[in-house]
Amino acid sequence: MPKLTPHNAAAATQHDERPIHILWINCGLSCDGESVSLTAATQPSIEEIALGAFPGLPKIALHWPLIDFECGPEQGVDNFVEWFHKADRGELEPFVLVIEGSIPNETINGQGYFTGFGRHPGTDQPITVNQWLDVLAPKATIVLAVGTCATYGGIHAMAGNPTGAMGVPDYLGWDWKSKAGVPIVCVPGCPAHPDNLSETILYLLYQAAGQAPMIPLDDQLRPRWLFGATVHEGCNRAGYYEQGEFAETYDSPKCLVKLGCGGQVVKCNVPKRGWINGVGGCPNVGGICIGCTMPGFPDMFMPFMESMPITWRTGSPMAVTESETYGSVIRSLREFALKQFDTEPQWRKKGPELITGYTPDWGDDRVRPTRLRAWRRGSRARRSGGSA
Ligand code: SF4
Ligand code: SF4
Repeated sequence: MPKLTPHNAAAATQHDERPIHILWINCGLSCDGESVSLTAATQPSIEEIALGAFPGLPKIALHWPLIDFECGPEQGVDNFVEWFHKADRGELEPFVLVIEGSIPNETINGQGYFTGFGRHPGTDQPITVNQWLDVLAPKATIVLAVGTCATYGGIHAMAGNPTGAMGVPDYLGWDWKSKAGVPIVCVPGCPAHPDNLSETILYLLYQAAGQAPMIPLDDQLRPRWLFGATVHEGCNRAGYYEQGEFAETYDSPKCLVKLGCGGQVVKCNVPKRGWINGVGGCPNVGGICIGCTMPGFPDMFMPFMESMPITWRTGSPMAVTESETYGSVIRSLREFALKQFDTEPQWRKKGPELITGYTPDWGDDRVRPTRLRAWRRGSRARRSGGSA
């Protein structure tokens, strides 16, 4: 297949009005967290995507174990896996392949298998996620890995695991590109954020329809606009961090770094975005960031509940106590400045005179502009730290 361009992709999806199929395989090693998470998406919701609520979006056929918009009662739930066989036979074009869960190393599975999604028509044996990837990835227009398990291996791939689990880029290759020239797209998170998932799916559908340019990805294959900033940069406790005020218990509104928060070195937009419909967002609501979107998760962030040396978090030689000292200076300067700004102007009072500085054209001598000028001089001096 030629590379996607606005011209040929639009031609493929609009002229013959074929739907774009989304084939969602959730049989990697996982807890189905991304599927559950997606049901909570609101910006956009998966129902809006599947039912065509967006202008210019071609018809979508979603083959997703949680809600199958294509099969249902008419075709019978037993037909579900047939769509994947159709794609394997080359009868489904175009399609986006979504992988949820990490990819085990099936070459060391002994006489069993680690995963299974449907059965081989001939042998009746389970079809592993590895086998589906082998046959479907080369035929897919786009491959999307959802959740930290599918993107980087996640919890199943931590040190000491018995399955040799890995992420989709580890399995297919980090430089792998689809037949349309699109790299693997990774939306990490444990689970992935609902709207990060739905927004990326929507983007990719528009791209497949030729109405969006190549998705911008960072060097870990994450959408750049979603994963470009750290948790710390979006945290509503960052002001406390700057002032060296750290929570010692979970009922405190202060910065959670001493309780184990790793937000300073974690790329994730959850504190800014909230979790469901803008509400929540790990450290914003009292939960330490455990780095669940990161390729090194979980090993690099364990033990989660213990404070790591601040040098490890920041890469700077500053220790917590030094940070607290520096923060206390910032805090006292800020308290002084706050007092200056936390006052009303002097002219808001009862009295026989108008002292706002108003100068009527007709020369009302009740006005005392000199008093206003004096107040402004004092205000400027207070802002610059001098005396009035
Ligand atoms: S709670 Fe975490 S993310 Fe928030 S300011 Fe503290 S260290 Fe940064
Ligand atoms: S803030 Fe941290 S723990 Fe929460 S979703 Fe983001 S990476 Fe995961």
